[in-house]
Amino acid sequence: MRLLILSCLLAFSVFGQNQLTKTYIETLCSPSFHGRGYVNGGDSIAAGFISKSFQEIGLKPIDENYFQEFHFPVQTFPGACELKVDGESLIPGVHFLVAPNSGPSCAEFDCKKGKSYRVVTCNVEKLYQSTSSFYPCPSNVILAVRSFGISPDSLKVIKTRIRELSAFAPVMDVTRDKFTWSVSQTANAYPFIQVQDSVFERMLEGSIELHIETRLLKDHVAKNVIGYVPAKKNAKRKPFLFLTAHYDHLGRMGQASYFPGANDNASGNGMLYSIAQQIAKQPLEKYNVVFIAFAGEEAGLIGSKYYVEHPLIPMKNIRFLLNLDIMGSGEEGITCVNSTLFKKEFDRLIQLNDVAHYLPVIKQRGPAANSDHYFFTAAGVPAFFIYTMGPNKNYHDVFDTFEALSFDKFDEIEHLLLEFIRGF
Ligand SMILES: [Zn+2]
Repeated sequence: MRLLILSCLLAFSVFGQNQLTKTYIETLCSPSFHGRGYVNGGDSIAAGFISKSFQEIGLKPIDENYFQEFHFPVQTFPGACELKVDGESLIPGVHFLVAPNSGPSCAEFDCKKGKSYRVVTCNVEKLYQSTSSFYPCPSNVILAVRSFGISPDSLKVIKTRIRELSAFAPVMDVTRDKFTWSVSQTANAYPFIQVQDSVFERMLEGSIELHIETRLLKDHVAKNVIGYVPAKKNAKRKPFLFLTAHYDHLGRMGQASYFPGANDNASGNGMLYSIAQQIAKQPLEKYNVVFIAFAGEEAGLIGSKYYVEHPLIPMKNIRFLLNLDIMGSGEEGITCVNSTLFKKEFDRLIQLNDVAHYLPVIKQRGPAANSDHYFFTAAGVPAFFIYTMGPNKNYHDVFDTFEALSFDKFDEIEHLLLEFIRGF
């Protein structure tokens, strides 16, 4: 009976822990966090939430608070982001995307109404040669380029030409590819959109109406959120382990649509939060453990670069760094970037997995500049970047939602990483 009660309690506490982490992730993905980007202060709201959570679970700040501030320019879409055909609005993120560096459809600070454009389709062979025959472009024309059904080599040239066009004319890139949005630190003067070929036919007949409001934030203040758990004894003399995950995402594309960034990377923050709770409950003997939720990753690894250039702890005192990004769908296991550089640590990770059979695959991958471990590795800090592999391919799009996360192997990865961390 007692055993039964104990196992019930255990099951409850494991379930409780799990539910807490899921709620944490769901909160980061909610509309009130605005896609953790640069419209309505989404990234700042997320920073406040994460720091408060760090404090609640017992992480200590390294400085006087949990924040490390830095700034950078970023193009934003704070108001209207509309594309109408025959008076009917198309769905942002599904039928069309506004390029991250798109300019407005009218003056930046006076853009209350949409503007009509005549759609002119560019001859792709002509465009391949040069953009000169499309210059100058009348101000009421938007140049459309069908950038599909082209060989990969030619496509590269065409994509370059599209960028060249966008420097002097409104441009529409017509595609059949999955939409993938990003963040830009620069702004064009003219509107620049991507539309799905499936809705393009309707535009050929007449005109379209575009209403894009933009604001270039020249000096946006972002914050890395940093907390740590001191080693059990003599913490001041102990080296450090780092666990990192970026919390920023792409934000809003107008007030009507936002990018929740559930897999990328609310999921990694959930993992960080969950592991931090375990370490806070039972600190390490030999290491202080630092937890960093980085800002500015999607804008070009800016937060982690800033940290490496302004370290709060001497870089040589970091024994190892684990960076987590895309943790929400582990059906096919994980990939370990830098595994070829740090053989001993990778062998240990494999061994732990072989014993407990947590994951079907731990895939090796060499160095790559694809997340926040990169500048640490470049500065000589041993690091792995770990991401999950699974059927969830919702990447940098409006479909990367909390509901789409399977959480497959989430607990297994947490156990594996905890064992790995406690083994140093
Ligand atoms: Zn990411």
